[in-house]
Amino acid sequence: MNKKLISFLIPAYNEADNIDQLRQRLNKISHKLTDFEFEFFLVNDGSNDQTMNLIRQWADNDKRVKYVNLSRNFGKELALTAGIDHVNGSAVLIMDADLQDPPELVEEMIKYWQEGYDDIYATRLSRDKETFTKKITSKLFYKVLQSSTKIPIQKNAGDFRLLDQKCILAIRQFRENQRYNKGIFDWIGYRKKEITFHRQARFSGQTKYNYFKLINLAIDGLTSFTTTPLRWATILGSIISIFTFIYIIVIVFHKLFIGNTVSGYPSLMAVILFLGGVQLLSLGIIGEYIGKIFHETKNRPLYLIEDSNLNQDN
Ligand code: UDP
Ligand code: MG
Repeated sequence: MNKKLISFLIPAYNEADNIDQLRQRLNKISHKLTDFEFEFFLVNDGSNDQTMNLIRQWADNDKRVKYVNLSRNFGKELALTAGIDHVNGSAVLIMDADLQDPPELVEEMIKYWQEGYDDIYATRLSRDKETFTKKITSKLFYKVLQSSTKIPIQKNAGDFRLLDQKCILAIRQFRENQRYNKGIFDWIGYRKKEITFHRQARFSGQTKYNYFKLINLAIDGLTSFTTTPLRWATILGSIISIFTFIYIIVIVFHKLFIGNTVSGYPSLMAVILFLGGVQLLSLGIIGEYIGKIFHETKNRPLYLIEDSNLNQDN
């Protein structure tokens, strides 16, 4: 009987110091799980260190290694997309190159896959070495995201997951530029199964996500997933209008029956500043969506491939 092929999909951006360890860990797993064939699919996301050379060397020595070398750094979301477009496995394991996602969990994921689950995702129990503010902000983000949609959002799940081929085929149909893959994984549905793990610290190197990038990712996550923030702007605007209307009536009555006293500068300033703030916020929210429309209508390719070993026979 033919063994099923399982692909490891690993985006790598300046991960030279981790490649060797990654290779060892993957070899170990593949030796253990003899019922399957494996493909190690690496997407080099425009690294400017030795990552690509190391991947090439690895591929020369191991026929299971496939790589796609992108023409520049496109960011993890698009690097993943490039991988999803080209992997071959009946199941695809998405994993970071820095070994923060323990490859050893893979066995459990595969077990659930064989039981018929399509999307087995690993949720972080502990966030070792992550700062208090990072934990709080990520909690807040999930709250806001969930409150904006009926689709169940997986909290604390990373991209570390096993996807059945049917999920991969589904995701290939998503050709949006401004993407937030985690939102897409939620969106597609299928049979989901959560497993938990303690996320480790990076094996080597620094995270590529600083606060600014994370805030950007959060805004992208929200605005590419739902239009609910536009609704918030509308609701906020309506509430303020109602109060303002009542306030106008109060003022008119005051003027007619009590007589005008020239005062109220502080309240006037407060109202003006508050309304100015609300207007800017609403404009900003609308702007976010117009920006998205702008980028999507250009209809550019999502990524460009410089070279790959996909067409080499082996
Ligand atoms: N990554 C990528 N392109 C980028 C940034 C990151 O392909 O522009 C890869 C990176 O090599 C790693 C994974 O995405 O395999 C997660 O990145 P990182 O460890 O920096 O993120 P964190 O674990 O801190 O969320
Ligand atoms: Mg990491």
